[in-house]
Amino acid sequence: GESIVNIAASVGIVLDQGNYRSAEEMIRDADTALHRAKLDAKGGYVVFDNEMFRDAKKFLERKSGIQQALLEGSFEVHYQPIIDVLTGELSSMEALVRWPHPVEGMISPAEFIPIAEETGLILPLGEWVLRSVCEQIKKWNTIGYDGFRVAVNLSARQFENNIPSLVEGMMIETGISADSLTLEITEGIAMKNVEQNIRMLEDLKALGLNISIDDFGTGYSSLAYLKRFPLNTLKIDRSFIKDITENTDDQEITKAIIAMGQNLNLKVLAEGVETQKQLDILRFSGCDYIQGYFYSEPLSASEVAPFLKNKSLINDRQLELI
Ligand code: C2E
Ligand code: CA
Ligand code: CA
Repeated sequence: GESIVNIAASVGIVLDQGNYRSAEEMIRDADTALHRAKLDAKGGYVVFDNEMFRDAKKFLERKSGIQQALLEGSFEVHYQPIIDVLTGELSSMEALVRWPHPVEGMISPAEFIPIAEETGLILPLGEWVLRSVCEQIKKWNTIGYDGFRVAVNLSARQFENNIPSLVEGMMIETGISADSLTLEITEGIAMKNVEQNIRMLEDLKALGLNISIDDFGTGYSSLAYLKRFPLNTLKIDRSFIKDITENTDDQEITKAIIAMGQNLNLKVLAEGVETQKQLDILRFSGCDYIQGYFYSEPLSASEVAPFLKNKSLINDRQLELI
């Protein structure tokens, strides 16, 4: 039989107004425009412009900035308390990476993590965060602070490697036990290499780690995959919690997620809790854990230490919970 093949071309165009010194520079910019043309629409063309130049320059700046910060060891990890709704006690913490930039001040991970992911630098950065968290846990254990887990965010790209062996090696190297770690994954890892990823998650769980699914409700994952993932906790995305007190849709969605989590035998955590009213609704709906500015912002390791020393301290700071 015959078959019809449709061909479309994308074109990147660059105009030389006398500022190019070499053919390589022109080709680089034409390539950037081509890349944009492919993203925009099939069969279109894009002319390289100043904005694209600024974006490309920024991207390269960030990329080398991340490389340098890794070399110099200037990233930091902050810890945000996660509270058990029933007891009001600290149950765990989420580790969040921070980049104190010498000139620009703190750069948000929301800005540099995507660049680290695109450039592959998330692999050394992710490993650095993991090691730094394990070392910190070890320090806390040494002075008698234990009985909590620290949750570390993993990018989908980290699942391209053998993540269970990396994590296991790190625990051995730093001398911490698996019951002090949780890994946060996003629905994105349900998109590629599903079978392989499920196997790695099972290996991690078998080691004794907890697995949380992050930003739940915002991704594309199907509930069928979700059921096959060996999860412990669902983290309801902040976007549902934000307007929960006024928006009945968000309230119903949140209640449905909590009910579903309970039916699947999962713990449910609400992110981005900022007010007593939000907490009241969540508690009433049976949510297990709360994380957000209402209790505490992410804190440096030394700032969070008092929460670990006296886990019930939080009860004095915040009102009675039961
Ligand atoms: P995320 O995993 O959803 O982390 C929660 C984010 O919400 C954090 O932003 C946290 O500071 C913020 N947050 C916590 N409570 C509240 C609240 O009550 N209100 C509001 N408005 N925000 C709250 P952050 O630290 O800027 O991190 C942004 C994102 O960057 C994280 O979102 C995560 O996706 C990524 N990220 C951070 N650290 C790492 C890391 O070590 N590895 C990877 N792969 N990603 C990371
Ligand atoms: Ca997270
Ligand atoms: Ca989240």
